Amino acid sequence: MKIHEFQAKETLKKYGVPVQDGYAIKELSELDKALSSLKAAGINQFVVKSQIHAGGRGKGKIYNADNRAELVLEGGVKFTKDENKVREYAEKMLGNILVTHQTGPEGKKVKTLYITEGLDYKKELYVGILLDRAVSKNVIMASTEGGVEIEKVAEETPEKILKVWIDPAIGFQPFQARQLAFGLGLKGTAFKNFIPFIMKLYNAYEETDASLLEINPLVITNDDRIIALDAKMNFDDNALYRHPEIAAYRDLDEEDPLEIEASKYNLNYIKLDGNVGCMVNGAGLAMATMDIIKLAGGEPANFLDVGGGANKETVANGFKIILSDPNVKAILINIFGGIVRCDRVAQGVIDAVKEVNVTIPVVVRLEGTNAYIAQDMLKKSGLNFEVASSLKEAAEKVTAVIG
Ligand code: ADP
Ligand code: MG
Repeated sequence: MKIHEFQAKETLKKYGVPVQDGYAIKELSELDKALSSLKAAGINQFVVKSQIHAGGRGKGKIYNADNRAELVLEGGVKFTKDENKVREYAEKMLGNILVTHQTGPEGKKVKTLYITEGLDYKKELYVGILLDRAVSKNVIMASTEGGVEIEKVAEETPEKILKVWIDPAIGFQPFQARQLAFGLGLKGTAFKNFIPFIMKLYNAYEETDASLLEINPLVITNDDRIIALDAKMNFDDNALYRHPEIAAYRDLDEEDPLEIEASKYNLNYIKLDGNVGCMVNGAGLAMATMDIIKLAGGEPANFLDVGGGANKETVANGFKIILSDPNVKAILINIFGGIVRCDRVAQGVIDAVKEVNVTIPVVVRLEGTNAYIAQDMLKKSGLNFEVASSLKEAAEKVTAVIG
């Protein structure tokens, strides 16, 4: 699960990580209060930050939500010393569409703004923590090339990214924190401040069951404090039950409506751009099915894993979700009857097709226990199924009907 920058900062603050404070607002009417609170703290330069679940906001563009051709503002993060400008930026961002290199051309609607202090600083750094699956250890990455696209640094000058791997048995060691600080070329007070910063940051990552924690940029202020200016946190969905306060941060506005619907039925659904709807049991088989559809010249419209125990309800719900995608022109059902028997799945498919009133071609491939009975049931159902006996045949049939 992803959360917004202001929520990530709220979380990090609980773990003692120095972050830049601010006020999240959803309405323009809340702006004055945010501004006067900042001014009361002696702050006289401000940053208005669009809150969307995507990065690259600083270099993004704001378009009018009612007229997508109209460019309203260059940049989804704006620095100013002028209070009137704060208001102008807030008006231009709130309710409009922010397009960044991470959102795709459709962009994302800005529904929340974060109003913060505009900081003066002498250096921008990068720090990221995530799980390195290749070695089954968390890795902390740091770079002096903060603020810019770290993907570019990783590609063009990988030597500029330092990495330390954390042994899960002994945890993050102070010498490793010093290794990073030396590597970043820090000295004196900045060096001293970096050590507790990174130790606390790692602790926050671990304690919250985060799957990614990225600070880009991390800044060294003119008086050598280390502060997180931006914060991105993703969490392991399977551990969210342990963190109700983080689960409560979920912002459904940022998620695909069909994916939200699927999650209600415990279906693992990811929407894609093609036109062949797929219903499969098991994530591995679902991946293989998508691959073979592509091999046959088609484009999958989704990933859908209905789980090991596919029954009539899951099949019916899966159908409804696949059919809600207007791009879907045909459906391929590929179920392996291991735990579940194929004849039961076939009955589920027949009932669901009758109930949901499916009008597009459906190709079914059932393999495993009682597969031959299932094929017979589908053929005799009087419904318009294309039955396939191998995965290859199924993929060829479904791409052929689309043409
Ligand atoms: P994104 O990564 O989505 O572009 P950031 O929060 O990193 O958003 O902001 C983009 C850039 O804006 C930063 O790299 C920094 O240069 C500048 N910036 C962000 N917040 C502040 C701030 N509080 N004070 C000064 N500059 C800021
Ligand atoms: Mg950033």
